Amino acid sequence: MARLPVRAAVLHAPGAPLEHRTLLLDEPLHGEVLVRTGAIGLCHSDLHYADGTLPMDLPAVLGHEVAGVVERVGPGVNRVKIGDRVVATVTPNCGSCPSCVAGHATLCERTMQRRYRDRPKLETEDGAPVSMLGGMGTFAEAFVLDEASLAVVPDAVSLNVACLLGCCISTGVGAVTHGARVGPRDTVAVIGCGGVGMAVVQAARMSGAQRIIAIDLHPEKLLLAAEVGATDVVVSGPAQEVIDAVREIAPEGVTRSFEAVGRPETAELAFDLLAPRGIATILGLMPAGKRISIDAGALIEGDRRIQGAYMGANQFLADVPLLVEQYERGVLDLRAMVTSVIPFSDINAGLQAMRSPGTIRTVVSFE
Ligand SMILES: [Zn+2]
Ligand SMILES: [Zn+2]
Repeated sequence: MARLPVRAAVLHAPGAPLEHRTLLLDEPLHGEVLVRTGAIGLCHSDLHYADGTLPMDLPAVLGHEVAGVVERVGPGVNRVKIGDRVVATVTPNCGSCPSCVAGHATLCERTMQRRYRDRPKLETEDGAPVSMLGGMGTFAEAFVLDEASLAVVPDAVSLNVACLLGCCISTGVGAVTHGARVGPRDTVAVIGCGGVGMAVVQAARMSGAQRIIAIDLHPEKLLLAAEVGATDVVVSGPAQEVIDAVREIAPEGVTRSFEAVGRPETAELAFDLLAPRGIATILGLMPAGKRISIDAGALIEGDRRIQGAYMGANQFLADVPLLVEQYERGVLDLRAMVTSVIPFSDINAGLQAMRSPGTIRTVVSFE
C-alpha cells in the first residue's frame, strides 16, 4: 500500500509555530492500528517539547492525548476492529514483562520495543523521517499505533471528552487511586490545577477524602476546582504562606499531597505540606536533570514519603472502562475540564491559550 497523505502540524524548531504540512503515514504493520483522529487534548508535555524545554529530534509531530476511530488494522490485531472508537495512551505495555506481571503497566520494560518498527511511521513528502512524541504523532488527521496503546470507548462518549482519558484523567485519577491510594481518612492538597490537578481533585472527591485543598496561582482555576470537588482553595504565593494557609485547614499537615506543576519548588512544597506518615506524589514533568531538595529530618523522623507515579501509575486498559462508567454516571466530570474546542487549523492559537490562566484543557476537534 502507498503511504497515506495526512495533514499534520509539524514542529521544525523549538519555540516556532507548528507548520501545517502534508506528511506520509505508513500502513499499520503487525499488531498496529491506523486511527482517524477525532479529538486531541493539548497537554503541557506537548508544550515542553514545542518550547524545547525537553529535547527531541526535529522535525517532529507532537500530541499524545487523543481519541479517534479505527480505520485500518494490521495483521495480528485482535482487540480492536474497524469502526471502534478508541483513546490512546503514551505508555503501551506488553502484559508479560516482570513489571507488567506485577501490575505496574506504566513501567513496562518493553515499551520501547512496542514502539519500535523497522521503517519510519511518518515521513515528509521527500522521504525524510519525522519523529513523534512517544512514538505517537497525533497532531495529525490520522496516526498509527500499537494495539496495546488503545482502549475502546462506547459510541455514546464524545471523542471531544474521551481524549482526556488518554493523559490528564488517567494520570490524575491514577495517581489518587493507584499511586497514593487516597481514602476517606485522608486530607489532600493538590498543587497546580491544570488538567492533571483537576483530575486529582475529582478523584480525591470520588475516593471520599475529608478535605481537598486546591492550590494554584490563578483564582479562575480555583473556582473551577471548587466546582469539581475541592473543599478549600488557597491562592499560591511564597511557600511559607501556602504552608501556613494549609495548616489552618489541616493543622498537622495533609496526609496526601500531589504536585501537578512540574517544578522542583512545587515538589518541595508538596513534601513540606505533609503530616507525619504523609505521602507526596510528584506528577509534573520537569526539565531534564532537575533535582529536588527536602528536609531530611521531616522525612526520617516523620516517616514521610515522596514518590513518583509516572502517568498516574495507571492501568490503562482496565482503568478506561471504569472512568467511562464514572463519566456516564455523572461522577467524573469531563466536560468541566474542557475550556474550549477549536479546529485543527487553530492549533497554534490553542498552544498559546494554554499559557492563559483560565485554560484547563483546549481540545482540538476534527468532528
Ligand atoms: Zn499529557
Ligand atoms: Zn511489560
